[in-house]
Amino acid sequence: MTDTSKYKNITVTHKTYDDLDILRDKVLDPNLKLSRSQAVTYLVNEKKLNLMVKHMEKTKHKVICPECKGNGYIRVPYEQAREEVTARCDTCDCEGELTLTEEDFIDQIDKPN
Ligand SMILES: [Zn+2]
Repeated sequence: MTDTSKYKNITVTHKTYDDLDILRDKVLDPNLKLSRSQAVTYLVNEKKLNLMVKHMEKTKHKVICPECKGNGYIRVPYEQAREEVTARCDTCDCEGELTLTEEDFIDQIDKPN
């Protein structure tokens, strides 16, 4: 008797059932010898992982601008300006924070120092 606290059934068309067998034999690693249930689990997990990666790629991270420390402007050193002068922060375009995407992090990793 199936443990209904752990398993649930699904119904698929004959076409889907046959396609699943083709995937098991031809596309998925033939050395794995997956059962149909294992093949469905494998495919669902693979799809789920792809969606998670796509979501991570879209996620944006807000960080305080390291150039102006979140002020949006930079105090020009007295030695250079000879008076109290502030300048726009070009790094964050006066926003005080930067929006980083996953690609920015990947770029940082790829760049050799
Ligand atoms: Zn800034």
